[in-house]
Amino acid sequence: MPEQSAYAGEPQPELADLDKCTRCGLCEQACPTYKLLSFEPDSPRGRVFLMKEVAQGDAPVGEHLARHLYQCLGCRACETVCPAGVPYGKLLERARYQIERAGELTPARRNWRRFRSLAFERVLPSPGMFRAAMFPARVLQQVPGALKFAQSLPLPQKVRRLVRMIPGGQSAPLPARSADSRGRAQPGRTKRQRVGIFLGCVMRSLFGRVHRATIDVLERNGCEAIVPQGQWCCGALNVHAGERNAACVMASRNVEVFLAAGVDAVIVNAAGCGAMMKEYAELLGDNERTRSFCAKVKDVTEFLSGLSLEPGFASAPARVTYHDACHLAHGQRIRRQPRELLRGVRGLEYVELPSADECCGAAGVYNLTQPVLAQAILDKKLDALASTRASVVATANPGCAMQIQAGLLDRGSHMRVCHPVELLAESYDAGLR
Ligand code: SF4
Ligand code: SF4
Repeated sequence: MPEQSAYAGEPQPELADLDKCTRCGLCEQACPTYKLLSFEPDSPRGRVFLMKEVAQGDAPVGEHLARHLYQCLGCRACETVCPAGVPYGKLLERARYQIERAGELTPARRNWRRFRSLAFERVLPSPGMFRAAMFPARVLQQVPGALKFAQSLPLPQKVRRLVRMIPGGQSAPLPARSADSRGRAQPGRTKRQRVGIFLGCVMRSLFGRVHRATIDVLERNGCEAIVPQGQWCCGALNVHAGERNAACVMASRNVEVFLAAGVDAVIVNAAGCGAMMKEYAELLGDNERTRSFCAKVKDVTEFLSGLSLEPGFASAPARVTYHDACHLAHGQRIRRQPRELLRGVRGLEYVELPSADECCGAAGVYNLTQPVLAQAILDKKLDALASTRASVVATANPGCAMQIQAGLLDRGSHMRVCHPVELLAESYDAGLR
């Protein structure tokens, strides 16, 4: 397995992409940061203008550019509404890469670079170091009662927020299934497809319960699910932080592993990872192997919508709402499939969330690097959730789940946060009883 990828050069925002912007301003009211700050450089149009100034050589890659591009959530809501097809997400990633390659800026940016270098160039690319970093969170998850106790402690604000982001419900280790081991499609069923489960980094460490539910639902619907060994993080957090070298290595590794496994589809249950993996050509270069891999990547709700699903019956009635993860709704244009999945579970009452596709403020590490803006954006999401009077909110991205859970706990809300497939898997379990 090659450790070095075909690294796709020194990417910069291209004038051809920047020139697509007609400055119509239709994106302004879709942009969470513009709606909060009402400042043109914190709007999509303003940020495209700043990038264009640099691309034309009219402005340096300086602190002004860095401040406004790092205040951007990268939510890509602007892409959804843009009539001119400005590829904002791609432009942002390239511009952040440019910023990180430029000389030292302010002391604050020096601190960010230290954090970025440790987190994205050393810890994240190393499964061992990442596991070690996640160890305290996993201990809190595994010891009965420990997480609830820690989340109720009067800790310093930043620590309390981190502890409240840790998801509960991790009870058993992930099933160990390599590419060689056989999945267990339900007896008596025709095997529909052989699929590979992408585990990711945060999902693998803290959301084993979602992976188990994903595998259960796929098998229940006649698929053979395997977990190819040697896969690792998708690289999205790195790329969003302007780091591409380690991201390329991790991406190349995933392409090799899943192509070697010979699966019909690569199933992803984290929106940010899926969006990244479908766009690996931007990172690795547009070649046959990358194209073949990208074509196989499917969000689990997207994949399930192509099967005629076995119906599920909820064990107890519940009112459920759904928050669109930005990288599912805007990054992958997947909105209908998770809603249909939830509406298909009999016994669940589905209620639409107002402004469901507006960012929750998680946005990778945004809630850590821009805590004030992130909290203001989260508050709007929590108000919308409260207005639904739902007892469960489903969302298909770990960052959103953690951010929303922490906000709900801060407000003393008992609303449950889960992935849509968990509700389907539970409904199957209920039917078996
Ligand atoms: S909607 Fe698109 S074309 Fe119009 S200002 Fe925004 S980015 Fe430019
Ligand atoms: S990605 Fe989101 S926050 Fe950034 S400019 Fe677009 S809409 Fe605004």
